[in-house]
Amino acid sequence: MGVGEIKRAVFLDRDGVLNPVVMRGGSPASPRSRSEFSLVPGAGEQVARLRQAGYLVIVVTNQPDLARGLLAEDELAAMHQALAQEVGPDEIRFCPHDDHHQCACRKPKPGMLTQAAQEYGLDLAESWMVGDGYKDMQAARAAGVRAVLINADYNAQVEAAQRVAGLAQAVDLILEQG
Ligand SMILES: [Mg+2]
Repeated sequence: MGVGEIKRAVFLDRDGVLNPVVMRGGSPASPRSRSEFSLVPGAGEQVARLRQAGYLVIVVTNQPDLARGLLAEDELAAMHQALAQEVGPDEIRFCPHDDHHQCACRKPKPGMLTQAAQEYGLDLAESWMVGDGYKDMQAARAAGVRAVLINADYNAQVEAAQRVAGLAQAVDLILEQG
């Protein structure tokens, strides 16, 4: 399938989906250095399955530690270089803002998804979001994409239409439901 024909995407949250979260004070948090960043085993294989099925794979991640001065841009760039090389999504988008910026891109707002949809001409109703938190599920709902939550100890209270055990099962579900 040529790039011009792609009309569907799978949006992947990053932390807790493609790389393990870092627990800080009992809460799931983002890695703040390349050395804290590791990839979920098999992540590249799962992204490849989606791309082979004709989905554009776009990572959409909130990184407010940039705005908070807790994450250096070069560390984030190093993480995303590893993610690009080892997992191979079509694109990695991140929101560098915090709540007080009132931006359009910070999930649960749908801006990262809707902006990509405009740029690529995506059919959002035929697209998906995979995440591990309520902000992912709310962004998906606001954008009009279907959503899958990856189960974790910290997200038992999150409302989700569909839950799965891991990224491989999320991809299974997406490929089954189309
Ligand atoms: Mg996450």
